[in-house]
Amino acid sequence: MNIPTIFLCLSLLTVLLTIKIGSQWPDEKVHVIGCNVGQGDATLISKGFSQIIVDTGPNESATSCLQRHLPFWDRRLSLVIISHFDKDHVGGLKSLADHYTIGNLVYYPTESIPTEWREFIEELRQSGTYVVESSTIQQMKVTGVQLDFLWPIEEGLLTQANQILGVDEHYPEVSARTLSDNETSIVVRVTYGTFALLLTGDITAHVEKQLLMRNKRHLLPSTVLKIAHHGSRFSTTQQFLTEVKPLLALLSVGKNSYGHPNQQVLDLLSQNQIVIHRTDQAGDLVVVTDGSTWEKRK
Ligand SMILES: [Zn+2]
Repeated sequence: MNIPTIFLCLSLLTVLLTIKIGSQWPDEKVHVIGCNVGQGDATLISKGFSQIIVDTGPNESATSCLQRHLPFWDRRLSLVIISHFDKDHVGGLKSLADHYTIGNLVYYPTESIPTEWREFIEELRQSGTYVVESSTIQQMKVTGVQLDFLWPIEEGLLTQANQILGVDEHYPEVSARTLSDNETSIVVRVTYGTFALLLTGDITAHVEKQLLMRNKRHLLPSTVLKIAHHGSRFSTTQQFLTEVKPLLALLSVGKNSYGHPNQQVLDLLSQNQIVIHRTDQAGDLVVVTDGSTWEKRK
């Protein structure tokens, strides 16, 4: 190859690379991606060069989702939140850590967290990730995106030992029962301007009731609601929908033997005129907002 040919090839390569980078350069808006990870949850909230991911799906499918939606050169996740440690929410964490640097990790410490994950969190901590327990924070701001941690709450209601709910005169049926791992899912509301996204992990109707009673009730109304527990029949009540008032429901679901999503939940969403996005039928959800308007792109 002679010198002019090499020069021409290098110039062409530079132009192609510039076009590729230019086409992936992030805008100023917030992009919410409900990843299609099969049966599981993984939601990406992306703003510029700041990436937040809530849950990591069951396997490397969350990494593939991020690769579909993030610029190829962006290899840092500002914040990873693990709602709880069921495989369909945490299973993809190791793959993510293989492909991205994780700046901060938030989780709720329960005694039932498997040793494998305790050890892995410790590895992340030692490699430079700042690890935070959600019970120690109420609110965070990441590049203008606000996160309010609504559940689990301490306030003396939950004991570290056995996670017993305190007696409550309004909802005696939720009194003094042991919370399951699903019910200690982190519930976090993500807001940007007037846009809000409520992420509910795998909470049950019992926890939804608790959220309705608490003094953070005013933080519930949200544009987009990730339907709890993949549309399980034990979650998503009319009372909860009345309070959250979502316009769009994200149903993160794949092939499963649990009957998710339940037909009654689907009917309830339809009766409330809520647009449903099922990841098993429509793939990744893409919502883009500038903080005052928003659009669903897929
Ligand atoms: Zn789940």
